[in-house]
Amino acid sequence: MITHYQNTNRQVQDPNNCPHGHVTNTPHNRWQMVSKDTDNTPMVLSAWTCANNQCNKLFICQHNWINGQFSFVRFLNGLPKGPDWPTPILELKDGKSMNTENPVPSKCIRTYLQSLEAEHHGLDELAGMGYRKAIEYLVKDWAIKNNPDKGKNY
Ligand SMILES: [Zn+2]
Repeated sequence: MITHYQNTNRQVQDPNNCPHGHVTNTPHNRWQMVSKDTDNTPMVLSAWTCANNQCNKLFICQHNWINGQFSFVRFLNGLPKGPDWPTPILELKDGKSMNTENPVPSKCIRTYLQSLEAEHHGLDELAGMGYRKAIEYLVKDWAIKNNPDKGKNY
C-alpha cells in the first residue's frame, strides 16, 4: 500500500498472511492512518480483510518509521504490548550461555510477555508463576553478568 507521510508517498509493505488462520494470501486493504506509537515513533495503522474465503476476517497491522521507511512491527490482536524494555535488559544474556561462543538472550522478557498474555486471558495462577519465573531469570542472569567468576554457584 501507499501512505502519505511528510508530503511524500511512501511504500508500506502489505501483509501476505492472516494472523487468524496463518494462511498466506493477499489481504485487501480497507483503511489506514498515520499516527504515533507510545514512544512517539511515527507509525501507520492499517485495517485489512483476509482474502481466504474460509476466513475473510478483519485484522490490523502496525508499521513503524524505522531507518527512513515504514517497517512491519506487529498485528494488533488486542493483547497488551508489554513495557518498553531498557537496553540493559534487552541485551541481557542467559547466564548459562554468557561465557560460551553463542550467548543466547535471557528468558526474562519472553517469560514476562507470555505471563502478560496468560493474565490477559484470565489465567491468573499461571501468570503469577510466570512473573515469578521471569524475575528469577532476570535476577540470576543479572547476577552472573556482574559476577562472571561466581557464575557456577547460581
Ligand atoms: Zn484469514
